[in-house]
Formats: sequence, structure tokens, C-alpha cells
Amino acid sequence: MPVDFPESVRELVVQLRKLPGIGPRSAERMAVWMIHQRNGSVAQLSAALTRVDNEVQLCSACGFFVDHGGCAVCSDTGRDVRMLCVVEQPTDVLSIERTGQFKGRYHVLGGRLSPLENVAPEDIRIDGLNERIISDNVEEVILALGSDVEGEATGHYLAEMLGRKSVKVTRLAQGMPAGGGLEHADPLTLMRALNDRRDA
Ligand SMILES: [Zn+2]
Repeated sequence: MPVDFPESVRELVVQLRKLPGIGPRSAERMAVWMIHQRNGSVAQLSAALTRVDNEVQLCSACGFFVDHGGCAVCSDTGRDVRMLCVVEQPTDVLSIERTGQFKGRYHVLGGRLSPLENVAPEDIRIDGLNERIISDNVEEVILALGSDVEGEATGHYLAEMLGRKSVKVTRLAQGMPAGGGLEHADPLTLMRALNDRRDA
């Protein structure tokens, strides 16, 4: 039998390979780097992982990331609660924030409707959206969803549902990259799409 890494290192490689975008060679390279660190870097990495695992959750109101410091969006009293921007993923909040153009609040669906992947309305945070529109007296809901098939389908569903309420529903303007999520749009494109939003 040819000699391989010791068992502990092989286990580390197995765990690292679970990370997105990490193949076998990258995982081995990272493991070897960790073996060679003698300055506390690995302990700091380990502590950071444990802390995120223990502390980071999704805000029960908006669905954005929170730790023990609370939700940076929901606790910001300078935001206009009458404007609610609906996005698919927590990271989409960051994409919109980086445009510097939106001062309302967010509602993260935590997914999008997809018959192929068996994602139905009850599987994403739509109930909470209805409740917030009423409790916060929301006047405008901006649908900032991806321009792929699932994002479009989710937008149509929400526009129809919200159209029955006394709330204005808009969506991002064209100019968004076709077939992608918000993370594929550069901040300028996203800023224009937000400013030129139209009725959904
Ligand atoms: Zn929140």
C-alpha cells in the first residue's frame, strides 16, 4: 500500500472538500498549509468557524444574517418601514445595500418557487411577508428577484398575491443580467435597475 497522509489529515481534507468550490487538490493544499502554520492562525480560524456556527442565525423578521448584536437592518430606526424590498437570499441584501440607493427594509424569502425542485409557496417566507406588510403599513413592495425562470415565476406569484392588497408592487427595471441572481449584477447596473423600477 502506498503511504497517504496520516488519518487526522485525511479527515481534514474530507471536511474541507465539503466547502463550495473546493476540489481535492485545493483541499489538500489548504490542509498542508494548516499543518505548517505555527503562529496561531489555525486556532484563530477554528475559533472563527465555531463562533459563526454558534452565533449566526437568520433574523426572524427580515431573514438577513444576525449574530448576538441583533439585526443591523431591522434595528436601524433611520430606515423607511413603508418600503420593503423582497429578495431571494440574505446575500442579496448586501448587493442592494452596496448600491447605496435603498433606505427601506428587506424581506428575504430564503429561496424561490421552483416546481422542478419541489419548492412551493409554503416552503419560502411568504406568510411572514404578508404579516409585515400589514403590521408595518408597507406602501411599496419592491420585488428584487433574479431574472432566471424561477426568479420570474416567484415575482409573478408575489405580484398577483400582493395585487389584491392595497400596496404598490414594483420590480427591478430591465438591464439586469438575464438568467442570473442579483450577485451577478455590478452595483451600477443594480442601482439603475432599482431606480428605474416599474409596476410589477
Ligand atoms: Zn432583520
